[in-house]
Amino acid sequence: MAMTKIRLLLGDQLNLQHSWFHEVDDNHVYVLMEVRQETDYVLHHAQKILAIFAAMRDFAKQLRERGHKVHYVHINDATNLHAIPANLDALIETYQAREVEYQMPDEWRLDQQLYKHSRMSSIPWRMVDSEHFYTSRHQAADIFMGRKQWLMEFFYRQMRTQHQVLMDDKKPVGDQWNYDHDNRKPWRGTPAEPADVRTMHDHSALWDDIVNAGIASFGRPQEREFPWPLNREEALEQLNAFIQHGLPFFGDFQDAMSSKAWRLFHSLLSFALNVKMLNPREVVHRAETAFREGKVPLAAAEGFIRQILGWREYIRGVYWNFMPEYAEKNFFNHQRVLPSWFWNGETKMNCLSHAIGQSLEQAHAHHIQRLMVIGNFSLLAGLQPQAVHQWYLGVYIDAFEWVELPNTIGMSQFADGGLLATKPYVSSAAYIDKMSDYCKGCHYDKKQRIGEKACPFNALYWDFFERNKRLLAKNPRIGMAYRQIEKMDEKTIHDFKHQAQKILDNLDKL
Ligand code: FAD
Ligand code: SF4
Repeated sequence: MAMTKIRLLLGDQLNLQHSWFHEVDDNHVYVLMEVRQETDYVLHHAQKILAIFAAMRDFAKQLRERGHKVHYVHINDATNLHAIPANLDALIETYQAREVEYQMPDEWRLDQQLYKHSRMSSIPWRMVDSEHFYTSRHQAADIFMGRKQWLMEFFYRQMRTQHQVLMDDKKPVGDQWNYDHDNRKPWRGTPAEPADVRTMHDHSALWDDIVNAGIASFGRPQEREFPWPLNREEALEQLNAFIQHGLPFFGDFQDAMSSKAWRLFHSLLSFALNVKMLNPREVVHRAETAFREGKVPLAAAEGFIRQILGWREYIRGVYWNFMPEYAEKNFFNHQRVLPSWFWNGETKMNCLSHAIGQSLEQAHAHHIQRLMVIGNFSLLAGLQPQAVHQWYLGVYIDAFEWVELPNTIGMSQFADGGLLATKPYVSSAAYIDKMSDYCKGCHYDKKQRIGEKACPFNALYWDFFERNKRLLAKNPRIGMAYRQIEKMDEKTIHDFKHQAQKILDNLDKL
């Protein structure tokens, strides 16, 4: 007798190239489900819910077109139990299934849930590889075994060698591993930002479904002109355009920020990568080929490849090695709640108004906006790292916990005490002014340190180092800041502290 097998697909497992789909088998039922469990574990940006549901619906359609049997649970189906295990149990009954298979989840929460439920089931459950990443969950831990600090660069070089990416046999191409120093130019308007080639969709019917289901969200839905890719084909078009028009300048302007161009030369591929429409190998291969064919400079190709082959895989390794404790880290014991303008962008600080405003509008901000504007302020102001993490997890189109959490808790908030970052990523107005045009139009004065008009970053910066002396002064990479504080007279320090306290007492009004 034929044995029906249920194969579960999570919303970020839309990988058409997975070996599951190499053959059509009538005994395999592919299950996708839109459930409140997944929409409600954090308050999400409207575009994030729309993008995932739309891509799931399209994926189901494509599987059916290829002859696969699909069971799709819609958000408003009367029989939807809104939890993955409960829906699966019901489907096991419906199909009289004899086995469940699922792909390795990327999130701790789902991994635990499915594992625990599988142990209570009367039929066997089997977890298979998601066939997406370069590394296994624990490869980074093996690479860093016995080391106190997890240096990304060390991991990255191993990846380059193991996968022979940008290598001439045993040596890195160009005899240098990392061209980060060449990648720090501000952008003054030229070259022009490439056109936005993303396909626009009308998702108003799906948006009605989401609203009718009563799902809470924030940010602008853009449901009539929805810009995120629906499927692999659209993601590949986006990749092609990026390789041609964005990548040549990616290196130079990777850290630049501008109020006139929100995308600059970034790929905007993180959503497509994280839901697995694209495989990291093909993206890396395209960048390397463009360099080998003389179409992009080495520094640009290397800088881009480092983000994917290096950072992305490394971050995943951090997540799987240090969860679940990592989520609770709070090195500085920061406890402040998020200011209200995190939810509407209405602050007089131009840099934050732009970075947060854009995040609410586009469900996207690029790395330096996330790290050196929003994250920088959050750390200086002592916002509670778990609240900051929840905000980042909700707001960005590409935010899935395995990648968002170590970036926020570790890299951005230094809440792990320096496992991931060698020093806290904080700055005064000087860095933001150097890398952007934000300060020019700002209500605050980037040069002033004290007074009503003084840029809040300035006093907060010194106050941060001063109040955390016990925890940071021994760090050799921060010696400079403490040497400068030592040179300050008592009155200057007192004035800074007083100014910082006034700011901290009035965060909502900044
Ligand atoms: P590009 O600048 O074009 O870079 C190419 C690709 O490299 C990205 O698509 C991404 O897959 C990868 N990448 C780059 N930097 C990182 C990084 N630090 N960690 C992992 N992958 C990286 N990225 C996410 O995918 N999801 C998140 O939830 C997320 N949260 C972040 C939170 C904070 C506080 C910070 C500082 C960074 C976060 N990042 C996150 C990393 C990075 O900011 C985004 O990957 C990037 O901005 C996505 O835009 P893009 O595709 O245009 O990237
Ligand atoms: Fe931001 Fe300060 Fe510059 Fe204003 S002056 S944009 S608050 S860094």
